[in-house]
Amino acid sequence: MIKQFVPQEFCLKCRGCCRFREADSVWSPCLMDEEIQLLLDKKDIPAASISIERRIQLIANPNGVDFICPFLSSLSNKCAIYDIRPFECQLYPFLINLRKDKILLTVDLNCPYVCEKINSPEIKDYISYLAGYLNSPEQLKMLKDNPRLIQAYEEVREVAELIFPHEIK
Ligand code: SF4
Repeated sequence: MIKQFVPQEFCLKCRGCCRFREADSVWSPCLMDEEIQLLLDKKDIPAASISIERRIQLIANPNGVDFICPFLSSLSNKCAIYDIRPFECQLYPFLINLRKDKILLTVDLNCPYVCEKINSPEIKDYISYLAGYLNSPEQLKMLKDNPRLIQAYEEVREVAELIFPHEIK
């Protein structure tokens, strides 16, 4: 599990995460094969919760406005699979981003906690932890095996250059 930057109590009060503008949003979590297997084995989730593109299949939000993850409780704002949530969910509000020929660690400033802390010493320390973690041999192998996790997200802030592309080819 990736060490978290945003305190849990802050996340539970915020109603931003796990909600998406489009049903096929690029921001919907991509799943690795082993994550799919774990979810099927441990949580007995309906197969329909996973799209054919191996992403979490979003559903219409009861509010009629946007789309939500099927594992999100609108009432409690809690994730039903939190203990085994996918890598991309653990990483958020940070994202691995492909920009031209670079693989970058970026952050979504729509997260109000990150937005408030963006120039703080805590976030600098956290970015250094996260960049180190993602550049470890195990994580580089994971990215090499799962290149779908490296996506081109728009409107995010670059915080570190991660790895050289040739290292994961
Ligand atoms: S799996 Fe959990 S953390 Fe990930 S998007 Fe769904 S509700 Fe949010």
